[in-house]
Parts: sequence; C-alpha cells; structure tokens
Amino acid sequence: MNNLANIFREKKLKLTPQRIAVYKFLQSTNEHPSAETIYKALQTEYPTMSLATVYKALKTLVEVNLVQELNVGEGNFRYDGNTSPHPHIQCLNCSKVDDVHGVCFSDLNDKVKDFTDYEVLANQIYFYGICKSCKNSIKEN
Ligand SMILES: [Zn+2]
Ligand SMILES: [Zn+2]
Repeated sequence: MNNLANIFREKKLKLTPQRIAVYKFLQSTNEHPSAETIYKALQTEYPTMSLATVYKALKTLVEVNLVQELNVGEGNFRYDGNTSPHPHIQCLNCSKVDDVHGVCFSDLNDKVKDFTDYEVLANQIYFYGICKSCKNSIKEN
C-alpha cells in the first residue's frame, strides 16, 4: 500500500479510492478480469462507481505500469496486476485467461534482433486453446 502511495506521488497522480479499489482487486486475483468483471466485482463495496470510472482508473494504472493490459484479440482487453512479462493462454470456448508458468520467452527478444533493425524492448506471448473444464464438459456431452 505504501508502495502504491509512493508510486502515485512520483507520477503526480491522486490516490483516489477508485484507483486503490481497482488496483487491490487486480492484486487479489489471477483471473485476468475484463473492465466489466472488475466493475461488477466492486459494485457491492463501491455502489456509486461507474463502469466509466473503472475504465479511467485502469487506463491510469496501465499508464504508470502498475497494471498490465492484455489485448487477447478482437478488442477484448483483460487486466493483470502482475506487470512482469509472462505468457498467457486463453480458452477459445469460455474466454478465460490464465498465466503459463515455468516457461520464459524473454530470450525471444534476443532472437528477434537478428531479423529486425528495431531495438527490441518487450514481447507479449498469447496461446489459445481449450481449458481443462471446457475439455471435460465437451467430453461429457
Ligand atoms: Zn474454457
Ligand atoms: Zn498474467
């Protein structure tokens, strides 16, 4: 929390209850929620917070690099409180997004250097598939 206050001060951003709520919620979940999901999850505790406010808070948090924005395709944005680079996988059936653990693609930045005159700074890896629970339910039907 102290950390958050410091970062916000550094960026000359006001530490609003909405921003704190959105940030804390993202820290508490591994589910890579959409803005709508965050909005619904916070509704009981913050009944006056609108979806537009959630979007604005997310935009600010992404700008100061406290939150990672994932574009998993078709303008479908998901949010991740873990800003370190890590690969993601999305279920093509239920759209859930998970982290892929234990494998790192940061060496790809080096490999790609041979094929571009860009200075390579980052990469974003997405895999797509069918999650375990969807696979099981397809089998049952
Ligand atoms: Zn699924
Ligand atoms: Zn993630």
